[in-house]
Amino acid sequence: MDFVIKKAENLSSADVPVIAAISIGDDLISMENNKVEIANCSFYHAEFLAVQEALRILNTRYLSNASLYVTLEPCSFCATVLEKVRIKEIFFGAYDPKCGAVFHNSKIFDHSLFRPNIIGGIQESRCSKIVERFFKEIRKSKNERNKVK
Ligand SMILES: [Zn+2]
Repeated sequence: MDFVIKKAENLSSADVPVIAAISIGDDLISMENNKVEIANCSFYHAEFLAVQEALRILNTRYLSNASLYVTLEPCSFCATVLEKVRIKEIFFGAYDPKCGAVFHNSKIFDHSLFRPNIIGGIQESRCSKIVERFFKEIRKSKNERNKVK
C-alpha cells in the first residue's frame, strides 16, 4: 500500500492523482493512474485501467486470486468492474463520501452476491491530502489566471 501512496504523492499529471495496482501475492501485475484528462475519456479511472491491463497480461477474465491497492475509495463504475472480475481483495486509502461506492452512495458490494475482502481507510489522512493538494493547486492556478486577465 505504501508503494501506491508514494507513487500518488509524486505523480505530476493533469489528472486527479489516484494510483491503483493489482498484485497476486507479492507479484505486481499492473499499476495505473487516472487518465481521464490525458486520454479525454471519462471512465479512464486508475482502477479500471489497472484491471484492464491485468486481464490482458494474465489473459483471463477474472482476477479472483488478485488484490487491488488504490489510494482512493473506488467509484460506482470501478466498484462494478471489480465486482465483474471477482477481485479477491480491495485495499484503499482515502474514503470518498462524494463519489465512492464501496462504503458510500450505492455501496456496490452490499447489493452483490459477490463480496471481496475490503479494507478501507488505510493511511486515510495521508491519502486524502494527495487529492486535497491537487485541487488546491488547481484553484490556485485558476485564481492566478484570473488575476492576469
Ligand atoms: Zn472509478
